Amino acid sequence: MKDIRKGKAAFIYTSGVSEFNFSPEHPFKPLRVEKVYKMCKERGLLSDSSVALIKVDEGREEDLAIFHTADYINILKRADSGEAVDVDMLYHGIGTMENPVFSGLYQFCLLSVAATLKAVEMVTGGFESAFNPCGGFHHAHSDRAGGFCYVNDAVIAIKRLKKLGRRVAYVDIDAHHCDGVQDAFYDDPEVLIVSIHESGRTLFPWGGFENEIGKGKGKGFNINIPMEPDTDDEVFTLLFNNIVMDSVKRFDPDVIVGQFGTDTSATDPLTHLKMTNNAYIESIQLMHKNFPNIVALGGGGYNMKDVTNGWTLLWAELAGLEAGGGYGGAIGGVLMGDSSIQGSDLRDMRSYVSGPAKEKLVLSAEKLISYYEENIQSFL
Ligand SMILES: [Zn+2]
Repeated sequence: MKDIRKGKAAFIYTSGVSEFNFSPEHPFKPLRVEKVYKMCKERGLLSDSSVALIKVDEGREEDLAIFHTADYINILKRADSGEAVDVDMLYHGIGTMENPVFSGLYQFCLLSVAATLKAVEMVTGGFESAFNPCGGFHHAHSDRAGGFCYVNDAVIAIKRLKKLGRRVAYVDIDAHHCDGVQDAFYDDPEVLIVSIHESGRTLFPWGGFENEIGKGKGKGFNINIPMEPDTDDEVFTLLFNNIVMDSVKRFDPDVIVGQFGTDTSATDPLTHLKMTNNAYIESIQLMHKNFPNIVALGGGGYNMKDVTNGWTLLWAELAGLEAGGGYGGAIGGVLMGDSSIQGSDLRDMRSYVSGPAKEKLVLSAEKLISYYEENIQSFL
């Protein structure tokens, strides 16, 4: 890619997507892309000479075909008008409350995939990392929509990177299990899939248990870490350090494709965890320090403040810039934050579960770590 200059990080901006609307009551708001872009811009995080702002305003059908079937792509095209829903669409998961038909649906799919592939192009072309906030649609299958996801840009990115000879680890810290990505690579030992999420006993897509470890030659290369409801930052970090970081270090990828949904937050309306964005960003920072080349994708997040704060912190980390803020936020004489922490005004107040509830959470995390050490570690 001779036309790409080298740099620290590329922000991939799909300016048109904010106009799309799944439905007025739908929790997924494409407007989030605009909000994150604006916050990053206002804080001067897009103007540094070390970063690039890349605008994507068109996509290609052939890129969807890297993973999706021709029949399914035709269904997506038919749904683009935002009008009639037919039985065929419903058969492919489209036209439901969860995955509604809306005007511009196909365009939205094309743009999401194009932006993620642009992120891949930037990272393979000399940039250290790239971030597409309009990505991370990890529930889509090759011929079926699921969980607000119509096309699986994460799978498409991994397939492209593989084709370019890169060794890829996919790390998914969204509160939901990445069923679409898991299924696409379940028998593939060349890609490591690691997902840390709220347990499928209490949350969609109702799977992603620790004993789903891959099959055939892919056995051991699919790792699930199902967390109990009410899991807090400390328990998440324990699991992240002992399983996610350990497995990725053993696998030693060239590139990480990260799905960085912010719906693990205690204030997310769809999930049941008790995390703050401190564990979120600190785990990403640790991973980034060890593995600089990251294709970072958005994902879930249904509280707009969590999304904009979380992804601004994420972008600042990738870009190697100070997220701004820097004041302690003293309210009523009580110091609410540490001004020495980067982007402190974007950080949630730290809070932890305690007492017997915490002991139960730690016990359950220790069981998951033992399971990983006994059943998976030797494959890596
Ligand atoms: Zn999610």
